[in-house]
Amino acid sequence: MHDVAIIGAGVTGCALAYTLSSYEISVLLLEKENDVAMGATRANTAIIHAGFDPEPHSFMGKLNVEGNRACYALCEALDVEHRRTGSWVVAFDKEQRDALDVLHQQGIENGCKGLEIVSGDEARKREPNLSSEIIGALWAPEAGVINPWEFALAMAEVAVRNGVRFMPNTEVTGITGASDHYDIETTEGHYRARYVVNAAGVESDSIHNMVAGPAFHIVPTRGEYYLLDRSIGTLVKSIVFQSPTSAGKGITVSPTIHDNFLIGPNSEKINDPQDTSVTRLALDEIREAARHLVPSLDTRASIRNFAGVRANSDINDFYIAFTAPGFLDLAAIKSPGLTSAPAVARLAKDMLKAEGLSLSQKAHWKGGRQVIRFKEIPEEERKAFVKNNPLYGRVICRCETITEGEIVAALKREIPPVSIDGVKRRAGTGMGRCQGGFCGPRVLEIIAREQKRDPLTIEEDARGSQVLTGTTKREDCAHA
Ligand SMILES: Cc1cc2nc3c(=O)[nH]c(=O)nc-3n(C[C@H](O)[C@H](O)[C@H](O)COP(=O)(O)OP(=O)(O)OC[C@H]3O[C@@H](n4cnc5c(N)ncnc54)[C@H](O)[C@@H]3O)c2cc1C
Repeated sequence: MHDVAIIGAGVTGCALAYTLSSYEISVLLLEKENDVAMGATRANTAIIHAGFDPEPHSFMGKLNVEGNRACYALCEALDVEHRRTGSWVVAFDKEQRDALDVLHQQGIENGCKGLEIVSGDEARKREPNLSSEIIGALWAPEAGVINPWEFALAMAEVAVRNGVRFMPNTEVTGITGASDHYDIETTEGHYRARYVVNAAGVESDSIHNMVAGPAFHIVPTRGEYYLLDRSIGTLVKSIVFQSPTSAGKGITVSPTIHDNFLIGPNSEKINDPQDTSVTRLALDEIREAARHLVPSLDTRASIRNFAGVRANSDINDFYIAFTAPGFLDLAAIKSPGLTSAPAVARLAKDMLKAEGLSLSQKAHWKGGRQVIRFKEIPEEERKAFVKNNPLYGRVICRCETITEGEIVAALKREIPPVSIDGVKRRAGTGMGRCQGGFCGPRVLEIIAREQKRDPLTIEEDARGSQVLTGTTKREDCAHA
């Protein structure tokens, strides 16, 4: 029997696993996909929101600002790529200018620091590529950008190092409660835990409904994106938001931690929560809206389009509550869920403790994490690295200059990747202009060699996305 079973290894589940891993309890992290961060956590705008957007007194209002500060602290402690860029919300007319005052006031109530409303001219002085039609803007210096999947992975890796049992490819299909525990049915067998935490993102209403009557309903809402090549230069240094509407924060032009630009997302209610297709109509809408903000923006520099699905719901807040004794929902975690995750985890830990979970600190908790990013190492040290391990002298991803040494190191981490995109999320291969066109086959070979697997079994991404078909002879595998 485990003390706590967490359902879902997105950023919410990983943040809780990380938090609980410092206590003398046994924790199980169940995930239906083959890796961490396969839901909304990997396909979003990657913004550490400042916290002026959510209504005060909501969970989102309370947890965003705390999460913002905790995110920066965790990124430092766990060597997660991030940058404090600041953000603008811009206004084109009087109505939008008045809305800035509301956001400003909300931000102050939520605890944001350094908020400032400036004229259109002042905003353009600081960001010369902003539209000449902007008449005012709200500046939030605490906003930033992050590598979202690395954030979740980093927390999960530390959790696993400290004893959390991560079970990928394990879909929860049913839950039954007994007097002092829950029995959890999965596609990989049966588990038992004293406490169950539902962090299943767009599926969190289905998991909730396994133990109680419906309390909220997820309204899956897709957002599509363009990812622009960094060759377009510095369009803007900070994140630029449209004035928000009831549908969300609007279209954003945002730098990424790798100096690309993300533009999007639109907001479209869909029926299938797994539908991450991109559509011509949405991309046209995004392009026009983004050009309205930054007229010189050129989407011909697009290197990828993708979509993520928000766990929006019929309540305009996160749903955080004990649904039944010992069963905690961390559900309907929509934006700013990435930013809020560490604060949601802290709250969940406190709620579990108040519900009777006994928490005593581990004497030998192994925190911290460091990643070798070879291209960022000074020239002299690089030579020493290559001398020590010649694999660091072999560049596999030419766009991003990622070496074989980094790929092999990623394959040896606490949660080894099993797919080409799993390596991409850890080592950064395939993130550049060719999007893996050149390095993908080489990464596949390295996975096969290091994990002693038949190349035919290696997936591009999720389960069932094998790249190769045909037959392999045993001797081919040995030499792969
Ligand atoms: C388009 C878009 C833009 C966004 N932009 C931002 C932003 O810039 N900043 C920000 O702070 N937030 C943003 N968000 C919100 C943020 O991405 C999410 O709130 C956050 O990632 C939610 O994390 P999660 O762990 O709750 O859910 P998820 O990441 O979706 O994880 C849930 C996990 O549960 C697993 N699961 C589901 N059902 C089962 C089952 N039956 N058994 C086992 N496992 C199961 C899934 O496979 C998944 O891995 C955005 C979201 C979207 C979609």
